[in-house]
Amino acid sequence: MALDGDEVRSAAAELLDAGAHEPLDAMRHSASHVMAAAVLELFPEARLGIGPAIRDGFYYDFDLPRPLTPADLETIEERMRAQVAADHPFERYEQDRATALAELESAGQSLKVEIIRDLPDDDATVISFYRHGGFTDLCRGPHVASTARLGPFKLLNAAGAYWRGDETRPMLQRIYGTVWETQADLDHYLWRMDEARKRDHRKLGRDLDLFSFHPESPAAPFWHPKGMALWRALEEWSWEVRRGGGFDEVRTPAVVRKELWETSGHWELYQDNMFVLDDSDHQSGLKPMNCPESMLIYKTQLRSYRDLPMRLADYSWLFRRERTGALAGMFRVRQLTQDDSHVLCRDDQVIGEVNLALNLVRRQYAPFGFEPRFKLATRPDKKLGTDEFWDAAEAKLAEALKAADTSYEIDPGGGAFYAPKIDVFLDDALGREWQMATIQLDYQLPQRFDLEYRTADGGFERPAVIHYAIYGSFERWIGVITEHFAGAFPAWLAPVQAVVIPVADRHLPYAMEVHAALRAAGVRAEVDDRSERMQAKVRDAQNQQVPVMLVVGDRDAEARAVSPRLRTGERSQGVPLDQFVTDLAGRIERRELWPVAAAEDAT
Ligand SMILES: [Zn+2]
Ligand SMILES: [Zn+2]
Repeated sequence: MALDGDEVRSAAAELLDAGAHEPLDAMRHSASHVMAAAVLELFPEARLGIGPAIRDGFYYDFDLPRPLTPADLETIEERMRAQVAADHPFERYEQDRATALAELESAGQSLKVEIIRDLPDDDATVISFYRHGGFTDLCRGPHVASTARLGPFKLLNAAGAYWRGDETRPMLQRIYGTVWETQADLDHYLWRMDEARKRDHRKLGRDLDLFSFHPESPAAPFWHPKGMALWRALEEWSWEVRRGGGFDEVRTPAVVRKELWETSGHWELYQDNMFVLDDSDHQSGLKPMNCPESMLIYKTQLRSYRDLPMRLADYSWLFRRERTGALAGMFRVRQLTQDDSHVLCRDDQVIGEVNLALNLVRRQYAPFGFEPRFKLATRPDKKLGTDEFWDAAEAKLAEALKAADTSYEIDPGGGAFYAPKIDVFLDDALGREWQMATIQLDYQLPQRFDLEYRTADGGFERPAVIHYAIYGSFERWIGVITEHFAGAFPAWLAPVQAVVIPVADRHLPYAMEVHAALRAAGVRAEVDDRSERMQAKVRDAQNQQVPVMLVVGDRDAEARAVSPRLRTGERSQGVPLDQFVTDLAGRIERRELWPVAAAEDAT
């Protein structure tokens, strides 16, 4: 488990945020103190970093004399259990700055000293400690009443983490643990972790022959035929949704001169993430986003109020100079494609267009079985524009959410510096939350590009632009759904939708006939004519998560019938071929969530 940006932020927030916490968070943070106490028993010279509660657990960072082994984690866990059995109360006390610094310095806790030095030196700053047993820690709390209040816990692993997430600072050892209110919750969490490992899209991508990664082009997937079949199925569906929403397709160049990026602001703010290249005498950038080029398309004509809204969808390649060290698979790639949309509209159309976006999101997610959740991200502290501007913009998004009959949460301060946005989240089969789409309202880009439209009374006004991608990137979406479905995609997405398996060689002509009928109906079907035994072919198709296997023998051939077996184990016999083909093609056409195993993952 590598340290990512969110964890750094959540750790920092934990140190600085004295606000209310969920009881489970208090338990998790208390567990990190208990773990730190155990580590100090083993390594009295350990220097302590920070130990926040995080989603699903906790961690603590330590500077230790040697690398931790799995046996160390077991010993630490035992010592933690001894503290729980002793039921030490957690006690809070305060110190003035000078005393706190002196005591931590004499204890050799230089990282804690650094934390205090970074706190504002004023009367409002309270320096508090929590003590349990013989252990004290600089801490804002809150904690549970005593160590016996910790629920069932487990230490998970240790990993390197730079002090304060800074590569120039010492590498510490971070121990991750998890603690829950009940044993059942802990068991379920451990099952989810285990299942997530099995479902890892990088592994399934190899096993199912969808894609591969190669050092010759780091962090950029090579799509194999089956992966492309999946991609095209996703793309066709998203186009169907876009067409239903009144979008037109555009496509724009990848190599773009820097002047455009200067106008858009990317050259100043985003250049580190761009591949910059010398193109003849000009500096150019490979485009990391589509937005600025859609602005140029808008500007090719004088637009009238009657031309708006203009809904443009651009599925071009994008390039982002991500660091290549991280083994993030599809979750961080340097070359990606979004189902990207830009709506240019009048201000009085914003509510309607955001409402449309919300409905398209729900429609596009439905055949995956995902029910999106929405958050309205409001004005941050550092922002452009007046309070009146923000009041109006936030009210428009709230109005659109209401009109879409959508419940939503507020993410205070989560908006972009130039306008509020709606973030879209979904939960996968393992209960993991993913942020996929964002619906971004934007008045800045039209201003930077000096966009206008002619009003009914002959004047000029600036349009607004609404940016959104619904899958986000195809790459990340494929990573997420591969893990969500554990590779067992519904038939409409499956790279191979049906395999025809002749029982013996003499059934091959009829198998070819069945295959032809399926292909004619648009089904991605294959015939397995290898000289393997029939059982081996069924097993291979099953392992490849093919939704439908059609084993054909004498009786089927005579009756022009098939005997389908579904991936889920369901079987039927003697189904007339025409009827079966029509039925299967219909399920695919309707993008049914089928066949889906009866909740095997509900533990
Ligand atoms: Zn603490
Ligand atoms: Zn955009």
